[in-house]
Amino acid sequence: MSSVYMLLAACVSCGQLFTSNPDRVPSIRVNAQRQPDPTGRREPVCRTCWDRRVAHRRANGLPEEYLMPGAYAPVSDLSEEEHDGD
Ligand SMILES: [Zn+2]
Repeated sequence: MSSVYMLLAACVSCGQLFTSNPDRVPSIRVNAQRQPDPTGRREPVCRTCWDRRVAHRRANGLPEEYLMPGAYAPVSDLSEEEHDGD
């Protein structure tokens, strides 16, 4: 048995629904008003907004942030062997 799964979520920045790998998708912390807040909860950011954030950081000389490989790809557990039937 193998399966593929992904996270379907609304981007915290633009509200667009998008799919991602829940373990790898970049997120930002926001408060109940959806304003950036280091003590808030983590909400995922879509690819478009991530690219915009990267461009903004580059333009302002801020350190690059690392996007994990497969952040916006479905998760496959094919690599995890499952024992089906004994
Ligand atoms: Zn977005």
